[in-house]
Amino acid sequence: MSSDNLPIEAKLLINGSFIPRDTFDLHSPYSGELVGKISEATVEDVDAAVAAAKAAQPAWAALSPQQRGKPLAKLAQMIEDATPELARLDALSLGRPISTFFDGHYAVTHFRYFGEAAYPVGTSSLNTPGFMNVSLRQPYGVGAAIIPWNAPLVFLSKKLAPALAAGNCMVLKTSEKAPLSSHRVAEMLNEAGFPPGVINILHGHGLPSGDAIARHMDIRALSFTGSVRTGRAIQKAAADSNFKHLVLELGGKSPAIVFPDADLERAAQETQNSIMFHSGQTCMANSRIYVHKDVAEDFVDKFVAFAKARKLGDPLDEQTTSGPQADKTQHEAVVRYVEEGKKASKTIESSTPMPADKDDLFVQPTVFLQVPENDKLEKEEVFGPVVIINTFESEEEAVKIANDTEYGLYAAVYTQDIDRALRVAKSLESGMVGVNCTSPTGAWDMPFGGYKQSGLGRESLLESLEDWLEKKSLYIRVSGLNSAEAGSSTVLGR
Ligand code: NAD
Repeated sequence: MSSDNLPIEAKLLINGSFIPRDTFDLHSPYSGELVGKISEATVEDVDAAVAAAKAAQPAWAALSPQQRGKPLAKLAQMIEDATPELARLDALSLGRPISTFFDGHYAVTHFRYFGEAAYPVGTSSLNTPGFMNVSLRQPYGVGAAIIPWNAPLVFLSKKLAPALAAGNCMVLKTSEKAPLSSHRVAEMLNEAGFPPGVINILHGHGLPSGDAIARHMDIRALSFTGSVRTGRAIQKAAADSNFKHLVLELGGKSPAIVFPDADLERAAQETQNSIMFHSGQTCMANSRIYVHKDVAEDFVDKFVAFAKARKLGDPLDEQTTSGPQADKTQHEAVVRYVEEGKKASKTIESSTPMPADKDDLFVQPTVFLQVPENDKLEKEEVFGPVVIINTFESEEEAVKIANDTEYGLYAAVYTQDIDRALRVAKSLESGMVGVNCTSPTGAWDMPFGGYKQSGLGRESLLESLEDWLEKKSLYIRVSGLNSAEAGSSTVLGR
């Protein structure tokens, strides 16, 4: 399929077949053009997808890791070959500039790695006299993934690849705002060699299909990335149904602390990129910056100069570094925060040149100075190109205000003093901390996830397989093993 043929019809992939349903329209946030006619999954479609996954799962789990790895590796290659097209689809649906599209590489890395890495091992123990005990790792059966719109392929791949490698069969729901690239991947699955039912891809809104997934009695594990509000609804639905195992990757209000001895140029450039990259629509963006008062003026000047140099425009243009907000709803929400912020705080609009036309859904990169610590802007995730730059005077104060949040996804500290850097890094209540770097800096093999309301659990190449495996302890009585009492002791602790 070529993405030139607009609008794209995205149907549901259930049991290896594409099923049409009543559609909703998807428009480009840049041009307003109709880019997709998207089938809306019903509760019955969720049931059918789960039933297909359940039927396919025993045979899939019975394959060797190598055999399961074959279609995973083939899919990696197909995604690699289609990366420019996938970038274009995300540009069309959510306004993501193609110049910022690392998602293809991310997905390829995940499918390739888990195509080879699925050799889960348990433990063994000779610590109980008369017993040789082992623990097993086994797939849950049917798993599910619900993903957000801001980087669809990143989330599709980081959830599907380990889940499938572990032997689960999957139901994945795309975001209503950005289903096109996931739909394109759905079109690759049969050719990649996945048997029908192993991966089922549904489109639609939180209600009805997302909620139906969260409540489904036959789904035993669910990995979700999205907002705290939805994460909370999913956790309640999971508790109300079958206590399915959950991984929740939620929002952020990430702080960056800049001490006076920091490399200010680097700190300004990187913190600016962190919040303005993808028009502020990343979970780990450093939306709160705390700068020591002695260097604050200099820092703000540098920061604003970097923001001013951004190129706002057509996401399909290679030169564009910032696109529009993802849709009208997102745009309105960000504009509301900016209008309210202007009343409460000193505001610097970066005067970044706006696109000549089609600027309806763009937001000017905006800096708020000295925002009161209990202000809504300090506490809530804006998800736009909007940053707070406040000052501090002591290390203790900086850590206190940085931690004064219900979020805890990513934090950054810039200083040349290694002792201070490590003291502060240890004190920050955050799942990830950058030292002389900030988000989106990360590492494939380090746990990704948040403290506090930024989520539950961690994902990474090394961690994610465990999310999709149940643990079973096997107590094996062995006569004559270890002692005279061997074979008689079954009571824990004796
Ligand atoms: P969202 O919570 O609105 O939607 C995410 C997904 O959940 C969508 O597929 C949506 O259809 C579905 N959904 C909505 N209501 C549901 C319900 N009641 N039950 C089940 N599913 C439901 O989030 P979004 O606007 O798509 O994404 C932005 C949010 O995601 C931000 O808060 C951002 O910080 C967060 N995010 C977090 C990470 C991370 O790794 N921590 C990464 C990216 C985005």
